[in-house]
Amino acid sequence: MTAQNAEVVICGAGIAGISTAWRLAVKHGTRNVVLVDSRPPMTLTSDKSTEAYRNWWPGPDDAMVRLMNRSIDLLEEMAEASDNRFLMNRRGYLYATADPERADAMHAAGVLASSYGAGPLRVHSGGAGGPDYLPTPAEGWKDQPDGADLILGEGLLRKTFPFLSQETVAVLHARRCGWFSGQQLGMLQLEEARAAGVEVIEGRVEWIETTGGRVSSVQIGTGNEIVSVATPQFVVAAGPMLREVGALLGLELPVFSELHLKMSLEDQLGVVPRDAPLLIWEDPQRLGWSDEEREFVAELADGELLLGEMPPGVHARIEGGRESRYLLILWPYHLDPVAENFPLPIPDHYAEICVRGISTMIPGLGAYVERMPKPWIDGGYYTKTKDNRPLAGPLPIDGAFVHGALSGYGLMASAATAEMVALHITQGQLPDYAGAFLPARFDDPEYLALIEGWDDTTQL
Ligand SMILES: Cc1cc2nc3c(=O)[nH]c(=O)nc-3n(C[C@H](O)[C@H](O)[C@H](O)COP(=O)(O)OP(=O)(O)OC[C@H]3O[C@@H](n4cnc5c(N)ncnc54)[C@H](O)[C@@H]3O)c2cc1C
Repeated sequence: MTAQNAEVVICGAGIAGISTAWRLAVKHGTRNVVLVDSRPPMTLTSDKSTEAYRNWWPGPDDAMVRLMNRSIDLLEEMAEASDNRFLMNRRGYLYATADPERADAMHAAGVLASSYGAGPLRVHSGGAGGPDYLPTPAEGWKDQPDGADLILGEGLLRKTFPFLSQETVAVLHARRCGWFSGQQLGMLQLEEARAAGVEVIEGRVEWIETTGGRVSSVQIGTGNEIVSVATPQFVVAAGPMLREVGALLGLELPVFSELHLKMSLEDQLGVVPRDAPLLIWEDPQRLGWSDEEREFVAELADGELLLGEMPPGVHARIEGGRESRYLLILWPYHLDPVAENFPLPIPDHYAEICVRGISTMIPGLGAYVERMPKPWIDGGYYTKTKDNRPLAGPLPIDGAFVHGALSGYGLMASAATAEMVALHITQGQLPDYAGAFLPARFDDPEYLALIEGWDDTTQL
């Protein structure tokens, strides 16, 4: 057994742990930060993401819009300072519907998000004298509008997005949104954190010692030996193992996980233009099966689901640079809470279901149902709370903090959630939205009653 000291020990080198280490060491000058992970950094969930970001959160209040606006400000600062090493773009999210009632709902959601600070809603109804619609550049993030463009006029819609289904009646193009390389974002922060003195230990946090109700040391199994680190502060940033590591502190963290898969496919026919935004189909749908297929599908474990009305939210984006022909497609149609098992249970038919679903939005992709280029499938768990908001702050043991439950938005939120966690640790001035993300909110019966009626329909 070897022994050492640290000011802060962080458990988990995904985006949550790395961004916390970076904030503490680079921005607060905290010395002696130790980052622990049994896996190589950024290899469990944080490199499986769609890497997209948005400030478009028409939810029950303005907390998520404010958090994401702050996070995107910080991401833009990092992009500026690093000559955009992590390739941040600003192509936007394009939500589309073939249902006139849903178009009305999009309008209402747009007004709501706008009132929360997401930027103005510009409605393009097709009449003369309306606002201008600015197309998005394929690369870069600067000098772009925020808010959203709701396009209802058929002329502009068909001209701008000719590859969408002719049934589409409205699209909402949210503009302070896009994607970046999550891996590069993590590596940039890890390199800078290391240069500022952060030590990375490859090992598993196996035991946390508390003395007089406060954190006193952490035991790390490295395979060869136990490293004991005496520390007054410990951050749980264990992603899908949040509950497991919380239990080492004797705590039950209020989280559960959903399985989210993603496929990539070579768009050999060039159906989706390489400068397209992130594309989301907002309508539920029934997949078209032949009688023979129907019989086969009925025998599958999830056959009933696949033959019935499937949920909205199938989405896609292009992947890679100009020469690449790859597309990412995701359809989270299984949303039951599940155990966090690795390797992931991936159904054989996931890719075919995604391609069938996205073909409703982009009919040209239907060609791949019969002649499917070899798909690649990966994914991970959305570890989340009941209100689908992060846990960022102190735990009920002195010196213990959590940065997690980052659900499906961990890369985009990490800059602002890490900022909050680091401010809690260093006892700095917190932003006024910090209360919405405190773990202690789940001890308040009034809050629990309030969120009973919440339904995060914006999750992708
Ligand atoms: C399919 C999919 C699509 C997504 N799309 C997006 C998106 O478009 N935009 C976005 O912002 N987010 C997206 N996300 C969400 C995002 O990927 C996650 O929120 C984020 O990666 C979570 O980061 P994390 O650091 O909390 O967890 P992880 O990246 O899982 O890191 C946790 C780390 O903790 C380590 N660990 C656990 N227990 C221990 C222990 N006892 N000792 C030592 N180490 C331990 C693990 O080994 C792991 O490396 C997506 C996620 C998925 C699955």
